[in-house]
Amino acid sequence: MKHDPLLAIVANRPKLRPSMVRTRFAPSPTGRLHLGHVLAAQVAHDLARRHGGAFLLRHEDIDSTRVRDHHYAEIEEDLRWLGFRWDEPPLRQTTRLEAYAAAIAQLRSMGVIYPCFCTRKDILHEISAMASAPQGPEGPLYPGICRRIDPETVQRKLAAGATPAWRLDSRLAASLTGPLTFTDLHHGTVGVRPDLLGDVVLSRKDIGAAYHLAVVVDDAFQNISHVTRGEDLLPSTHIHRTLQSLLGFPEPLYLHHRLVTDGSGRRLAKRHDALAIATLRERGCSPSDVLAMLPH
Ligand code: GLU
Repeated sequence: MKHDPLLAIVANRPKLRPSMVRTRFAPSPTGRLHLGHVLAAQVAHDLARRHGGAFLLRHEDIDSTRVRDHHYAEIEEDLRWLGFRWDEPPLRQTTRLEAYAAAIAQLRSMGVIYPCFCTRKDILHEISAMASAPQGPEGPLYPGICRRIDPETVQRKLAAGATPAWRLDSRLAASLTGPLTFTDLHHGTVGVRPDLLGDVVLSRKDIGAAYHLAVVVDDAFQNISHVTRGEDLLPSTHIHRTLQSLLGFPEPLYLHHRLVTDGSGRRLAKRHDALAIATLRERGCSPSDVLAMLPH
C-alpha cells in the first residue's frame, strides 16, 4: 500500500480512530458561496472521500444580525449543483445554544472566563489612550479593561441586570492547560499561544455564544477528526486548541489550506460577486468549469 502521511499521523494518535475520518464544511448563511468557499468545501469533501470517511455540512448561523433565511437553501443548492453530497443532515448552530451555554457554564465554574461590560466605543477609547496597545495578527487586542474590575463592581452590575459578554482569560487559560500543540498537515506541529488573539469573546451579549466557542463545541459534538479551513483561521486554532483542553474535548488534526485570491492577490470576500457560484452559473459555467477554476 502507498505510504500515506495522513493515515500515519492519525494512526499514531490513540484518541483518533483512523477508520473514522470526519470532516465538515462550515459556511455562514450570510451571503452566496464564492470560489473561496468551494475550495474549503472541496478540501473537506475530498479528504473524507479519500479515506472512506464522512463529510458534513454545518451552517454557522449564530450571528442573527447578518444571517438571511434564503441563504441556507442557496448554499445547499450551490453545493449540490457542484456535486457535493453530505452524509448527515446539516447542523444549524442556532439549534445548539444550550450546548454553548453549558460550555460557558463549565468555563465559568473554572474561573477562566470573565464578564465584559465594554462597548466597542469603550474599547477604542482605551486603546487610543494607551501608549502602546497590545497588537495581534489581526489588529489591536482587547486591552483587558474588565479583567481588572473588582468582584464587587461585577456583582453590582450583574445584579442591576447588565448582560455581559464573556471573555477568555487567556493568561489564566495558559497556566491551567500548560504547554499545548496542535498538528496541521501543512504546517506540522505548532506550539499553542493562548494569548495570540488576546482575551477573545466566547459569549456575545446578544447571542450567548461566539464563533470560537461554538466551533469548538460543535467540532467535538460532531466528532470531527480533521478540521479543514482557510489559512486566515490559523491564529484562531491557538484559541480552539486551548478551549478543547479546558473543556476536555479530543484534539482533531488540522489542515489550513491556501486561500483563493482575486486578480490583485486579495482574499475573496462577499464583495466579489463576480466569483459567486450563482453568477458563474448564470454565465453558463458548468460545475466542472467552476471546479477547474480552483487552485491545484
Ligand atoms: N464559519 C467560518 C467561515 O465561514 C468557518 C469556520 C471554520 O471552518 O472553522 O469562515
